[in-house]
Amino acid sequence: PPPSKSAGAKPTTPAGEHPAYGACTRFDELPLSQKTKDGLRKAEYTVMSDIQRAALPHALCGRDILGAAKTGSGKTLAFVIPAIEKLYRERWGPEDGVGCIVLSPTTKLAAQIFEVFRQVGKCHSFSAGAIVGRRKAGRKGVEEEKACINNLNILVCTPGRLVQHFNETPNFDCSQLQMLVLDEADQILESGFRSQVDAILSQIPKVRQTLLFSATQTKSVKDLARVSLKDPQYISVHEEA
Ligand code: ADP
Ligand code: MG
Repeated sequence: PPPSKSAGAKPTTPAGEHPAYGACTRFDELPLSQKTKDGLRKAEYTVMSDIQRAALPHALCGRDILGAAKTGSGKTLAFVIPAIEKLYRERWGPEDGVGCIVLSPTTKLAAQIFEVFRQVGKCHSFSAGAIVGRRKAGRKGVEEEKACINNLNILVCTPGRLVQHFNETPNFDCSQLQMLVLDEADQILESGFRSQVDAILSQIPKVRQTLLFSATQTKSVKDLARVSLKDPQYISVHEEA
């Protein structure tokens, strides 16, 4: 099928069961759980940005997404909200293990993303954690992580730290994973992360929802899309000229 494109202030209406949601402009018009709506309201998020309007209806329907919008356009909420809603709808609980992984190129960005999960997920009961840098964590920190990582439902981390847990943490289990997110996907798919990303993809279920977001849609992003995205929605939001 041809990729659906949406640009500027007029996101296309997604085909499917909820065509009306394509015209939503506010978060509280979306089919979200009350707990997520409460989290958004407390954080004072009311009106969606263009990338959020274009991506959220598709992501909430369970579709894979390759999304591009410039820095500062609000890409974080475009994956944080679907991740939280996915686990909520699956009635995910602490005992269900890792349900969502968000990969970020840097630990600093991972910490920022984690804060948004904390804000928006405030009223939910799952656990989210950011895995900090190898050097910063030190051996003690890594040992503590190993002890609690299986109790986290949402993991935000760099590819390298995730691979470290796959290699070193006994019983680290991602077999139930529901969603994989690559933030700054173009950076994560650069050659420097290639072997780590391949190792991660080989350890997680093929049947899952995958969301890729970056400032630009690079060739390498499309390469990965061919490998692991299923009928992705290509969503590109440009500034009006
Ligand atoms: P990007 O990842 O595209 O660079 P971010 O997700 O980091 O952008 O968001 C940039 C800033 O915009 C953040 O400070 C965030 O809190 C704010 N923001 C995002 N979406 C909204 C919104 N719908 N309403 C108000 N502020 C928002
Ligand atoms: Mg971002």
